[in-house]
Amino acid sequence: MPADFSIETKTLRLTEPFRISHGSSAERQVLRLRIRTEAFEAVGEAPFVPYYPDLPDETVRWLRGLSSFEMDSDIPSEAPRVARLALELLQADWRGKVSGEPMGAEFIASGQIQGCRSLSIPTDLEVFEKKVRETARRFRVLKLKLGSGDVDWDQRIVKVARSAAPDAILFADVNGGWSVEQAADLIPKVECLNLEFIEQPISHREGIQAWEKLRGHLGDCEMKLVADESAQTQLDVRKLEGLVEGVNVKMLKCGGWRRAAEMMREARSAGLKVLLGCMIESSIGVTAAAHLAPLADWIDLDGHLYLADDDYEGLLYDGQGFLQMPKRPGIGVIARR
Ligand SMILES: [Mg+2]
Repeated sequence: MPADFSIETKTLRLTEPFRISHGSSAERQVLRLRIRTEAFEAVGEAPFVPYYPDLPDETVRWLRGLSSFEMDSDIPSEAPRVARLALELLQADWRGKVSGEPMGAEFIASGQIQGCRSLSIPTDLEVFEKKVRETARRFRVLKLKLGSGDVDWDQRIVKVARSAAPDAILFADVNGGWSVEQAADLIPKVECLNLEFIEQPISHREGIQAWEKLRGHLGDCEMKLVADESAQTQLDVRKLEGLVEGVNVKMLKCGGWRRAAEMMREARSAGLKVLLGCMIESSIGVTAAAHLAPLADWIDLDGHLYLADDDYEGLLYDGQGFLQMPKRPGIGVIARR
């Protein structure tokens, strides 16, 4: 274990509570790892997500119990998911700072990459309409969070967004908030509103059978479906073939940056599209994920933009909502002073 290795859990405050089908949160915790050398500081981060089982105390205890770990060590196979991701990013940042290369230098984007902003489930549609209008001035792609518990409200959210942003590309994410029957009823109703896709309309807890049932109900409805909570790791990809058009890949779900790249390749070879996502986390995690953007069809990397106190700077968006990657080695983030 390097002497200057530090482990910290940090609470990040959101600018406003973020409401999705799983619940509402006003702050999030992340695991931060740092290593200081005379020449630089390397960082790694991974988020704790309230609806995931990973616990900060257990994760920190596991890290403190590591008898040895070096920047070129393999990450122990029994590493808890959050620790694994943070260690992998720390190593990648360290390696990049030693070599002067950004992580993901092997992935080259063929052109500009369009970013997306997510809007949490609204409680007031007038306020929401203004927010959609304002956000669409900069971002051409908006993601609507649905799964309010009231399917009529969900339908109104989509209608309001479409009329407020007629030219926007709209993603919808239900976070498993509908039953199969509700999804089968609602999806054809919103088809005319030209959504790019609907993500995780039904709960992952119902298993693959629920997706099969939903597909059976939907018949020739052409709405694209994307799996998120049902697509945790690479192993889930093949099970979803023929049932969805795409999968949402996030580093935390599959347990790392390299694993996310592998999952993206697996999805592509299965003929599925890839949505690259993140959690609510600081610029450290979001920027690391953004190095995988050239492998994705759709991008959903705005987790850092919900924070009131993002203490790092990395991935930025330009005036038209395109990704602006930092030109710095490693993950490419710098501490805000
Ligand atoms: Mg999702």
